[in-house]
Amino acid sequence: MGRWQHYYRPRTVQEVLEILAHYRGQARVVAGGTDLFVELLEKPPAFEALVDVTAIPELRTIYQEGDWIVVGAAVTHTEIVRSALIRQRGTALAEGCSVIGGPQVRNVATLGGNVVNALPAADGTVALLALDGEGQVARANGSAWHPLLDLFRGPGQSAVDPTRELLTALRFRATGPREASAFGRVMRPQGVALPILVAAATVRLNGAGTHIEEARVSLGPVAPTPFRAQRAEAVLRGAPPDAAVFRQAAEVTLQACSPRTSRYRATREYRVEMIRTLLPRVLETAVARARGETWASPRFEVADKYSSFGCWLGG
Ligand SMILES: Cc1cc2nc3c(=O)[nH]c(=O)nc-3n(C[C@H](O)[C@H](O)[C@H](O)COP(=O)(O)OP(=O)(O)OC[C@H]3O[C@@H](n4cnc5c(N)ncnc54)[C@H](O)[C@@H]3O)c2cc1C
Repeated sequence: MGRWQHYYRPRTVQEVLEILAHYRGQARVVAGGTDLFVELLEKPPAFEALVDVTAIPELRTIYQEGDWIVVGAAVTHTEIVRSALIRQRGTALAEGCSVIGGPQVRNVATLGGNVVNALPAADGTVALLALDGEGQVARANGSAWHPLLDLFRGPGQSAVDPTRELLTALRFRATGPREASAFGRVMRPQGVALPILVAAATVRLNGAGTHIEEARVSLGPVAPTPFRAQRAEAVLRGAPPDAAVFRQAAEVTLQACSPRTSRYRATREYRVEMIRTLLPRVLETAVARARGETWASPRFEVADKYSSFGCWLGG
């Protein structure tokens, strides 16, 4: 494209920060480029240099540290889907990443890019939100973990400034006994594109399996930023995991969010109906997994297969 003057491929986080500091807002981080280069086709870049972060080993690893599963910001969606650790202990994230774009996109696009791009419909981001994810941001004055929700300012607006800061990793607590997560998606059958609706949930059951001890629910695009359905979580906490409770969780979610009509994807009314349909299904799946009644693996095969053609109504 030749629309910037310098392209860097540093090997350490420190080098990235030094290059960004040197350019004083005139350099920008790039990972897979699947969002950034599309953006650049539409408007000329407002920077002189690109800083490619995909050669930094620590940004490319997935590992467990105590209860946490840590995913480097430059890990690709394909690598996440292939990780047995994430499939088993953070199932919703593997499912969310498995339906992003097509295989070519997933092979280069990263979870960090998905988060910093900050779209309310971003599949990986919404899935990570239901796992109560956190993001680590490196700045000139140090590095800190932040709740994922704090990283969003508005549609496409991240709290991470990619001309001065680097998202280095994402993390979430591995699901434990009687606990599981699930992700579901509704999209148009044609094309490899953003979804009409996504929903994700993590539930932990009590010892007898009769009640929900803890629940986390997320959806998109139903608000200006990826949405955590806290009212639904309050309804679910302490309740029996049955269809009536799941329906109620969807109804209170509808009161708290604001799905919109979008020209290319769906009307507000359709999205409202899909929240009533998809969210209970996702909750049902998470509960069945928490009880050990269903195993996730075949679903990835289904998700992988259909997402290549652009259609998966999963859950
Ligand atoms: C054909 C196609 C289909 C797609 N389908 C989907 C889909 O179904 N679902 C979906 O959610 N998305 C989809 N996307 C969007 C995109 O692929 C994802 O959002 C992807 O995860 C972005 O990652 P990336 O590494 O390519 O980001 P990049 O394009 O490299 O970067 C995106 C933004 O994040 C910044 N950035 C990247 N990494 C960092 C970091 N570590 N620290 C600080 N800033 C950073 C960049 O400066 C830029 O602002 C699609 C894109 C295409 C082209």
